[in-house]
Amino acid sequence: MKTSQVVIVGASLAGVRCAEALRRHGHKGPIELIGAESHRPYDRPPLSKQFLSGVADRDRLWLTRADTALADQDITHHSGATATSLELSTRTVHTTGGPFLFDSLVIATGTSVRRLPHAAGAPVFTLRTLDDAEALAPRLVEGARVVVVGAGFIGAEVASTARSKGCEVTVVEAAPVPLERQLGEAMGTACAALHERNGTRLIVGTGVASIETDGVHLADGSVIGADVIVVGIGVVPNTGWLEGSGVTVSDGVLCDATCRVVGAEASVVEGVVACGDVARWPNDRYGEEMRIEHWTNAVEMADHAAQSLLGGTDSFAPVPYFWSDQYSTKIQFFGRSTGFDEVRVVDGDPASGVGVALYRKGDLIVGALGLNRIKALMGYRPLLADGATWATALAHAGLAT
Ligand code: FAD
Ligand code: NAP
Repeated sequence: MKTSQVVIVGASLAGVRCAEALRRHGHKGPIELIGAESHRPYDRPPLSKQFLSGVADRDRLWLTRADTALADQDITHHSGATATSLELSTRTVHTTGGPFLFDSLVIATGTSVRRLPHAAGAPVFTLRTLDDAEALAPRLVEGARVVVVGAGFIGAEVASTARSKGCEVTVVEAAPVPLERQLGEAMGTACAALHERNGTRLIVGTGVASIETDGVHLADGSVIGADVIVVGIGVVPNTGWLEGSGVTVSDGVLCDATCRVVGAEASVVEGVVACGDVARWPNDRYGEEMRIEHWTNAVEMADHAAQSLLGGTDSFAPVPYFWSDQYSTKIQFFGRSTGFDEVRVVDGDPASGVGVALYRKGDLIVGALGLNRIKALMGYRPLLADGATWATALAHAGLAT
């Protein structure tokens, strides 16, 4: 396959790691890395944690150690250039910085936050970018009344950081149980208990009616006064620039099992791959199409997409993983929690903030959740990778079936 000129759209985690992987796996031609943001590529996880709390500064965010690291690998970073359209017939990406011709293309444009309508002048913030974090951080001062809308990952981590800075925090979640989609009801409830244990007020099962300058008005008629309102209600894939291009977009960029992008009539678009938050693909390990919005997947998929672009034909079939730091608890999860038949606590008590729970589907272990149990949880990773039985997993935990 001809790979002389690779254009990568999206200069964040997936894009940068894909560029580096292309070099590592032997690509010799030019690599043009195009990104809408004006900053040097940076990592997002600290934005809701150490950076927001003030423990880490900008220098702890950069994705490459040295400022010159990309140039040293002959990767050209075009910052502040937004891709506006893709023309497959001429193999051109049109951007606000001019057109880029490609032989091979990597789509790594990630996601953007969902927003809520609000009154002009209401102190509303979202958190996705370094600019967002720099706007929000100085507002989280001792005694500030912070209302967080959405008890997903952003909501929980911002609440935790705001508490650490002495804010008065309320989290409002429309669903009856936070993180239920990700962890199931029992473990979602266990994680939600962290909020109240750490002095955050949690209101569940109540929608937001409107956001005004005085605070958040709930559907039940109550008003929560706020100096700062953070909306964390999920994200949408950045695919607008692909409209009409022939690339299949369906809640993300559709790929085949090898990360190659799917075009018209389910055919693969030659020399085009996608990776990271924006990419949807069939994970053969689970027989399930997925789009994952977590750090480890972006890194692993970027490497796989690079190999596919260079001719690799293996399927990308990872055991998904995420972590989240909330208050002084590290939450980690390996595997899948969708459609499980049973969740069993095998160590400690997650509801008290320390423990391990395993997820069963049929007679297999499909997931493992740890709260402040880093070493113990790692022990389940090979079992999940090997497709171990439930009995094997319980034996590993020192329990009988
Ligand atoms: P993104 O990071 O979204 O990057 C996409 C890039 O493409 C952006 O820079 C964007 O500006 C650019 N772009 C978009 N459209 C265009 C266009 N048309 N032209 C050019 N450029 C474009 N995951 C975990 O597992 N654990 C954590 O603790 C964790 N913490 C997080 C904390 C925060 C605050 C956030 C926001 C995310 C966190 N995540 C965490 C998730 C993780 O950061 C993401 O999964 C990861 O950033 C995905 O990387 P990506 O490169 O696919 O997409
Ligand atoms: P998220 O994890 O999808 O959570 C959004 C939450 O908001 C969900 O609980 C959702 O409920 C709820 N919600 C949706 N609409 C709502 C509404 N109108 N009013 C109130 N609540 C509403 O998304 P996020 O927390 O905004 O995070 C954004 C992205 O960053 C995600 O991709 C996330 O994975 C990533 N991130 C990851 C981490 C981590 O892995 N540690 C940390 C920070 C951010 P339903 O589930 O019922 O829709």
